[in-house]
This record gives sequence, C-alpha cells and structure tokens, in this order.
Amino acid sequence: MIVLKFGGTSVANAERVRESARIAVMQAAPRLIVVSAASGVTNLLLDAARAAAAGSSRSSGRAVATIHEIHGEVIDGLSSDQERYGARVTIDQLHAQLDETLAEIVQAGELDSRQSDRIVSFGEKSMSVLMAATLRDRGTPADHVFADTVVGTDDRYGGARLDRARTRANAQAIIRPLLDRGRTVVVTGFIGHAPDGSTTTLGRGGSDYSATILGAALDADEVQIWTDVPGVLSADPRQVAHARVVPQISYDEAQELAHFGAKVLHPRTIRPAVARNIPVRILSTYEADKPGTVVTREPLGDGIKAVTALKGLLLLTIDVQEMEDLAGAAAGVFTTLHTDGAEVAFAAQASSRRRMTYLVDQVTGGCERLRTRIQAVVEEFEAEVNCTEDVALVAAVGAGAAGQPATIGKMLGTLEREGIPVLALSQQDANVALVAAVPEASVQAAVLALHRELVEATTPAPVSTQRRRRRGSLLDEPIRVG
Ligand code: ADP
Ligand code: ASP
Ligand code: MG
Repeated sequence: MIVLKFGGTSVANAERVRESARIAVMQAAPRLIVVSAASGVTNLLLDAARAAAAGSSRSSGRAVATIHEIHGEVIDGLSSDQERYGARVTIDQLHAQLDETLAEIVQAGELDSRQSDRIVSFGEKSMSVLMAATLRDRGTPADHVFADTVVGTDDRYGGARLDRARTRANAQAIIRPLLDRGRTVVVTGFIGHAPDGSTTTLGRGGSDYSATILGAALDADEVQIWTDVPGVLSADPRQVAHARVVPQISYDEAQELAHFGAKVLHPRTIRPAVARNIPVRILSTYEADKPGTVVTREPLGDGIKAVTALKGLLLLTIDVQEMEDLAGAAAGVFTTLHTDGAEVAFAAQASSRRRMTYLVDQVTGGCERLRTRIQAVVEEFEAEVNCTEDVALVAAVGAGAAGQPATIGKMLGTLEREGIPVLALSQQDANVALVAAVPEASVQAAVLALHRELVEATTPAPVSTQRRRRRGSLLDEPIRVG
C-alpha cells in the first residue's frame, strides 16, 4: 500500500486538485491519500479566528469568504452533478460548523489553542471532501476520513504528541476495511484528537508527519510526499536558486535537514518511517515524471549533501563561577526551558570557562523575558546570564563528511573568508550534520558560500534532469507516475 501526501500548493485550486488526483490514481491500489488544506487556507483560518477574538466579525467574515471562494472553485470544477451537489452539501456543513465556532470566539472575546486547532482543522477537512469527490468524479471509488477520528494524540494543542498505539488501532479499525474494499481513502493531514476527543494539530506543516504516521499505522510499502519542488534540494531554493536535487538520503540525514530548517519535510516526519523501515519519497506535482528524492535507512555517498539554515534563534550563555555548579545551573536552565515550551536547537559547554551555550527556539517574550527567568533559577550559583537575539544556525548535512576534521576546516575557512563570525560550533563523532551558529544577518551569505564550497565543489553534475526511470536503480521498486 502506498501513501501519497499532497501539500497545499498541490491542492491550491481545482486544476491542482485534479492533477494530484491524476497522479494518485497512477499508483496501484490500495492507496491512501493524505491532504493538506489548500495553499493559504490555514493562514486565512487563523486570521479569521484572531479577528473573531478581537471582536472584528467583519474581517473574520472576509477571511472566511475567501476560503469559501477557494473551495467553491474546486466544487464548480467537478463534472458530475451528483458529486457537485454532494460536495456542496458537505462543504456547507463544514463551513456552518466553522461559523459557529467563530461566533463562540467572538462571544468569548478570546482564542485559546484548543479552539484554534478546531478552527484550522476545517482547511484539511474541506480538502479531504473535495479530493475524494474529485477522485469519484474521475471514476475512482473514494472516501474521505477525518483524522480527528483516527490519529490519537495528547492534548498539547498546536503541537500535539502522537499516541502510536491508539492511532494504529483506529487506523486498522476505520481505514483498513475501506482499503480492503478497494476504496481510495483520503485522510486529512495535520490533525488528530486528544484523549477527550477534541481536535488537535501536529504543528504547522504537520501533514508530512500525518503521512508517515498513517503509513506506519497501516504498514505502507512507501510514503510519497508530493510537493512543489522536485525533491529534497541541496539548499532552500529561496536561498540558493541553483540548488540541486539530492537523489538519495538516509533517514538520519533527512531528519537533520528537517530539524535544521528544510521546510520541505516537517521535522517529525521521518521517525514513524524509521520505526517500520518505510521508504519516503519527495516528489513534485509540477514535474511528476522526475525521480525526486528517496529517503531510506542507508546513506549513499560520503559528501556533504545539503546546507540548511534555521533562523530566529536566541543565543543564551550562562557563566558559572565554579565547575561543580555547572550541572546544577544546567538543571535549572533546562527545567525553565522545558516549562516554557522552548526548544533547544543546540547545546555546548566549554568547561574551562565554566560557560554553557544554548541556542533556543520557540521562546515567548524574547531575550528580555528569558534572561529574567533564567537569572532567577541560577541566582544561587552567582551565574552570569547573557542572551542575544537574531541568531541562526547553518548546518552542513551528510553522513560520513560532517564528522570529518577536513569538513570542519573547510566550513570554518569558508565562513572566515566571507567575514562571517562563528558564534558557536557543534561537531560530534557520529554526527551527520556539522552545525555553526552565525548572526542572522549573515545567514544568506553563509548558506551561499557553504553550498558553493561544500556541495558544488565536491559533488558531480546536477541530477535534477534525470528521468523517473532512474528510480529503478535507486530502489528496486517500479513505480508509475506522471
Ligand atoms: P507543501 O505545501 O507541499 O507541504 P512546503 O511549502 O511545506 O510544501 O515545502 C516545500 C518548500 O520547502 C519548497 O517550496 C521550498 O521552498 C522549501 N524548502 C526549504 N528547504 C528546502 C530543501 N532543502 N529542499 C527542498 N525544498 C526546500
Ligand atoms: N495546512 C497546515 C499548515 O499550513 C499543515 C500542512 O500544510 O502541512 O501548516
Ligand atoms: Mg509542508
């Protein structure tokens, strides 16, 4: 069984939905399709919710009207009267529920993360209905399933954690019978349900994660992430216009890339695939005949494959007077970061200076608040706390190369030649990524230079023009698309 996930741009309008449906049915059944909301709809839903909380029914209504238009255009594109009618009824019901929830928010005058998750779920829910209708319209038996009846999570709204056992049981009970009856099942990405049944989300961009979650729960043979770029590229194409497709990467490498800012994969996407050894392919709905990138257990080659960047971090340093206070102070720091829901992107300790360095993400209130909070917990150690905003990480990813002194030398030499200060550096023996902290203002220059020196200078000609038939040599599994 193949899982195909279509991202926002791949279902942005009637024509894109039809093209994604065409790509999906090229795959042998059984097939499971995971859909994102149409491009822009999640943001519009959030705008509507925030406007409602601020009491502005009119601007909330404007955002909702735009969503209606986007969905209406897909409905109008259906050729069968029956499908058009059926889709309109179901979408109208969803929109009515959305209006009701927005009215509750206007009444309450505030928006909590639980309501926010319920609101944004309407984007994926609507698209699952529209995609299933589009498939039936072209003669493929299909059903939609809302993942807030399948994917079990905890109640951390906005970024819920998976309950694997509950999800597997639900997927086997709800989705498996449909697949066994030869139906193509279209499931909403991004959403799940808390133990009390309320709708949760897996974090922005979480539909990629939904695809591997469901792939693992249903023992899929492969998960395909269909998007708007022809695979994982050697850098963000918005930073390096001539970035190349990386034909094959390992789970570890993909995980590092996603963790260090490659938006093409949600950071949690890879873990469910690793657990069941399911290959993940990244493919473009604009160039469906291209081989894309395949992610499997084993790395291929030992060079640096990609350079990524993670922006908007805070650099936190804590200097303690005595060596023996390091662990105690660190305990306080980590407890505070954990309580605040911050993410530690990088941690280093230079014991000779009794200094600890952390790069942290997802901090509310910026350095000012964080510094005060940390200062309070390390007071007893007479520690000095410093915090700098606008810091970024640049990462050079490639198993085999990232841990090599030669690569470290090259990375530092390149950054030095460009006049980019290195604020911190992380390298460990078994790492598949070599990571440096730089000022955010220098990140574009850093990525361009590192891509030139570590990727372009060392790897052979671009592979992005290879056709899909090359895939056979990448993985022994014939796949027909495009
Ligand atoms: P989707 O809506 O299909 O999930 P996303 O916008 O979330 O698509 O992710 C695809 C985008 O990720 C690309 O359009 C590209 O701009 C961006 N991106 C960032 N880094 C990379 C990378 N290393 N390789 C490919 N795409 C990347
Ligand atoms: N629609 C959601 C978002 O915009 C999830 C996704 O696209 O993966 O974040
Ligand atoms: Mg995405």
